Amino acid sequence: MSLSELSRDELVALHAEQSAAYEALVAQGLTLDLTRGKPSSAQLDLSNALLSLPGEGDHADAAGVDVRNYGGLQGLTELREIFAPLLNVPVAQLVAGDNASLAVMHDAIVFSLLKGTVGSPRPWAQEENVRFLCPVPGYDRHFALCEQFGIEMVPVPLGADGPDLDAVRALVADDPSVKGIWVVPTYANPTGAVYSEDVTRALLAMPTAAPDFRVFWDNAYAVHHLTDVETPALDVLGLAAEAGNPDRVFLFASTSKITFAGAGVSFFASSAANIAWYLGHLGKRTIGPDKVNHLRHARFLRDADGVRALMRAHRAIIAPKFALVDQILSDRLGDLGAATWTDPDGGYFISLDVADGTATRVVALAKDAGIAMTGAGAAFPYGRDPRDRNIRIAPTMPSPDAVAQAIEGLAVCVLLAAVEQRLAEAS
Ligand code: PMP
Repeated sequence: MSLSELSRDELVALHAEQSAAYEALVAQGLTLDLTRGKPSSAQLDLSNALLSLPGEGDHADAAGVDVRNYGGLQGLTELREIFAPLLNVPVAQLVAGDNASLAVMHDAIVFSLLKGTVGSPRPWAQEENVRFLCPVPGYDRHFALCEQFGIEMVPVPLGADGPDLDAVRALVADDPSVKGIWVVPTYANPTGAVYSEDVTRALLAMPTAAPDFRVFWDNAYAVHHLTDVETPALDVLGLAAEAGNPDRVFLFASTSKITFAGAGVSFFASSAANIAWYLGHLGKRTIGPDKVNHLRHARFLRDADGVRALMRAHRAIIAPKFALVDQILSDRLGDLGAATWTDPDGGYFISLDVADGTATRVVALAKDAGIAMTGAGAAFPYGRDPRDRNIRIAPTMPSPDAVAQAIEGLAVCVLLAAVEQRLAEAS
């Protein structure tokens, strides 16, 4: 029976039951952490061969260039050849960089602010205002980047196949200060949304008041499938060119959740004009990327199928954890209608929506019971969830037993907060 159908007496009884369950939970003295989407050590172990690659004596790329030396700004060709088909971009329009795509996003924003990008009337920093559209819930570090540079964030609701297009179109049509939109097209952080081709085409074709409007296409989870359906990446650069807006897309990706989260390779892809723009600025910041890391990745991964095989090994480790979360939430909360959550086909997160107005309380209850959750509101610009209901669950890092314990405990907190609120409303 749903919580909303319970009488006051039934609510009082349920409250007593949940309070007791919560006290028992606190008494367990747990220390569990479901905060950040990190790979577990079992996942990192899958790539341990990297630790002894390329190996002494192996330091030339396919063209015979010594990877130990300076240069090669665009990154090793053989590594770009492995990832170009996976990201569905031409090799010539793909840059391989150092270990963090977040740093590439940071650079793209800073270069745009200080120098303007292709088609900019002036550097973005000289505009009175710069705004970005932020589909929500979204990735907190995208929002932190905007905040860092004074880019005003405008939330737009994110559905299962992309953002509310009417809202997006209306916002970009007349306001030239809207310079960009954040997009995580595949298994979005945190909802698992996958942008459809129709939504993507609409974003690439829509008229924008800003001549230099950019889609920040962060395909961080392009190959991170959790089911047999391994949806290929859209040819977003081709679609943009077809729509008459070839320079609209900045594409980002990395191997952070393929090989080593702290020692992988980042990627940037875009139109030929944007690549020239990006490399022009990048060449002032560095003489070249860590090509030894590129070479060891190329040796280890071999080809696109090597990446696909590795991702299936990741899936075997993490899919059971996602299934546990779904099963426990269904068992504990399903019938009561106390929450809804996503069941993603890939990526690293589950997005949990608890009763409106209770997410902050749930996270605080969990914390006091030794279960660390990402702060309520983290998936919204400025940390403000207008309905105070969203909580991001990151199940990859802890062991299956720890995930189960944490979600069992979280369910107690969700229910207790929901019943408290119903009682307060009923009194
Ligand atoms: N984009 C998204 C959507 C992410 O979820 C993450 C990692 N949590 C990143 C980027 C960070 O990627 P990187 O390690 O390449 O900086």
